[in-house]
Amino acid sequence: MAETPYFVSYPEALRILKLHPLTLSTEFKTLDEAFHRILSSDLESKVDDPRFDNSAMDGFAFRYEDSTSPPRELKIIQTIQAGSNALATPLASGQAARIMTGAPIPEGADAILPIEKCDVDQEKSTVSLLEEGKKHFIRKQGENLSKGQVSLKKGALLTPSSIGLCATMGYPEVPVYTQAKIGILSTGDELKFPGEELRENEIYESNSFGLSSLVQQHGHHSKRYDSVIDSIDELREKLNTAAQECDLILTSGGVSMGEWDLVRKLMEEEGDIKFWRVKIRPGSPPLFGYWKGTPLFGLPGNPASSHVVFRMLVAPYLRHSTSGGGIQERKIRVQLAQSLKADEHFLILRRIKIDMSGDQILAYSTGYQGSGNLNSLVLADGLTLLEPGHTGEKGTWCEALLL
Ligand code: AMP
Ligand code: MG
Repeated sequence: MAETPYFVSYPEALRILKLHPLTLSTEFKTLDEAFHRILSSDLESKVDDPRFDNSAMDGFAFRYEDSTSPPRELKIIQTIQAGSNALATPLASGQAARIMTGAPIPEGADAILPIEKCDVDQEKSTVSLLEEGKKHFIRKQGENLSKGQVSLKKGALLTPSSIGLCATMGYPEVPVYTQAKIGILSTGDELKFPGEELRENEIYESNSFGLSSLVQQHGHHSKRYDSVIDSIDELREKLNTAAQECDLILTSGGVSMGEWDLVRKLMEEEGDIKFWRVKIRPGSPPLFGYWKGTPLFGLPGNPASSHVVFRMLVAPYLRHSTSGGGIQERKIRVQLAQSLKADEHFLILRRIKIDMSGDQILAYSTGYQGSGNLNSLVLADGLTLLEPGHTGEKGTWCEALLL
């Protein structure tokens, strides 16, 4: 244990984690199957978006100079729908084309007026423009994306809008990482499956369910094992199974300094620990290392801590493994609406409610910040990132991680 990094700073923990990324293979998924999967390479657009200059409105297309002193009557020479072709001969002065949203702009035209600003005389086949034409109602070729441009980066978690963009760019299927299979193992004699009859001093096991959801939220596959009692032999056996079946193991509980903190004990004696304890609060007990060649995070047992530590250590680890640092968590700067307890040496992660209804972005504590209080996390929109030595005084600003 002498050389194991002990009680490391948060940046040091991240530095060590980056030395041990997961290696995942890649596969192709159709867009129907790709939601919430992680892109394994940058995607270049195969087309310009828009592909051609087109109308943003249902209305009329014409030469802008024809509209500068409204009202002005123009001859309607054609109708262009989305998907149809404009006339080969360019539109001349005094002429207008009836045009639909998404239809190509005929040559010669450089302005649009929406239908509600026009008076049409069907018999004469003319249109009276009641206002000046609008050049900005022409959507220019390539104004959103040009062919060859990368808009979705390796490591991006595919959201509904990015799935749509894959289609816009011409991809029927996309390269994604295979989902990491992440085993989740809670430890503790006191833990019972939710709903089971509780004996005195027993509680419902909650961490494995929260962690399993976090794994899925980050685009991977969770395998939740039944919780294991505080016995070295049982724990060893379960870890052996998990190491064989999974790419990564998350344990909860049993990593502190106590006599019954068996995950730490077993990892010390038979595993390979890369660091133990991190200067963050809540959540200082975690360890990271390998069990029989499989990377393992020993997360704290306290429910709020295990969740926070996932967000602070496991999530960046997974993201780094798939994006190489290209994708970051979303952060925001907030002003503390009340004083929070900061610390000289620890990164302080208070659960906060963020109020953006006024001119400021104000952060309020979600109440009692005990590391067993899961409800304080349910009420939270973010976690403060109060750096060591930062004051936690009311009115000061700090970064916060959005939950
Ligand atoms: P430990 O880290 O094992 O000392 O556990 C710290 C605290 O978290 C104790 O109060 C445990 O009862 C509680 N705890 C540990 N694991 C879980 C779990 N899986 N679900 C809910 N509470 C837990
Ligand atoms: Mg325990």
